[in-house]
Amino acid sequence: MAELGWCAGFVIRTRENNLVFDPDSMHGLARDSSVFISHAHADHSAGFRSRLKKYSTIETREIFESIHGKVVVNFHDVKLHCPIRLGDAEITPLNAGHMLGSTQFLVTLPNTTILYTGDINCLDTLTTTRAERAECDTLVVEATYGEPSYIFPEREQTYAKIVSWALDQIKQGLAPTFQAYGAGKAQELVKLFNVYTKLDVITDQKIAGVNAVYSNNGLKMCSRTVAAEEPNNGNSVLIATRPYFLSDSRKYVKAVTTGWALKMSPKRAAAFPLSSHADYRQLLQFVKDSKAKTVYGFTGYTDVLASQIRRKLGIQSRPLPMLAQKTLHHFR
Ligand SMILES: [Zn+2]
Repeated sequence: MAELGWCAGFVIRTRENNLVFDPDSMHGLARDSSVFISHAHADHSAGFRSRLKKYSTIETREIFESIHGKVVVNFHDVKLHCPIRLGDAEITPLNAGHMLGSTQFLVTLPNTTILYTGDINCLDTLTTTRAERAECDTLVVEATYGEPSYIFPEREQTYAKIVSWALDQIKQGLAPTFQAYGAGKAQELVKLFNVYTKLDVITDQKIAGVNAVYSNNGLKMCSRTVAAEEPNNGNSVLIATRPYFLSDSRKYVKAVTTGWALKMSPKRAAAFPLSSHADYRQLLQFVKDSKAKTVYGFTGYTDVLASQIRRKLGIQSRPLPMLAQKTLHHFR
């Protein structure tokens, strides 16, 4: 019998294994735990800092190392569709479509299968291909936008709006600046301006480091970093993790790109609903395609999504439970 639940991250305990997925701290985890990291975003990748045995794609490790300037030790790389065997469990990484290197993990135990999604996006983008579907008995799915009003517009439409907004600002002598996550979203924006415009794309150092990882993995990023005092030709777009200005005379106008933009009306910024996550409709379809008998949600609208899954799909569903205290003791 496997025990499932949340203890710093998603945990599967079997007779022979403690598998921990995306722990946000190492507190309470057994010393013989195996840590799986689905992607390099900070809320999923804290496990890289632990001394436990760690598994992720090489791309995920490289992005983490580029952002944090740290070398990960006790690391084993995984490849999509190549199962690894640990005792009574077989773990198969599948594409999650969320950012470069992002994976879901399909865990096959002697009597059951469990799919842990990490963060997923079910659409193709300029830098990622859609999350793979897999059938399983139990699905553990992210619920970030698991609320019926979060339905994103067509991505191409959002791409077009972002580009035309940036070109408009430049026409008016203003400097468009996008504030974005350093990994994933920033590279999608770089690619967008590379593909659809001839603008100079300028990024901060943090994004430049991640761009290099993308370029080395076949997703060429054309961008550069400039010193603040360097003259700027006025034909550029800035992409940065925090407010970033050059010493030219232009006025800087800010934009944000996030799924939350659907319900934002920021005063001094433009907001575009470009998300690296599945929206509500995609999540429901993903759950349906998994043919899971039980679905647990984590992160975001867990209660809402669980009740929608029960009502609309007739599948047993609830937020991922905490592991019982006695189990926690058992873990130490
Ligand atoms: Zn993420």
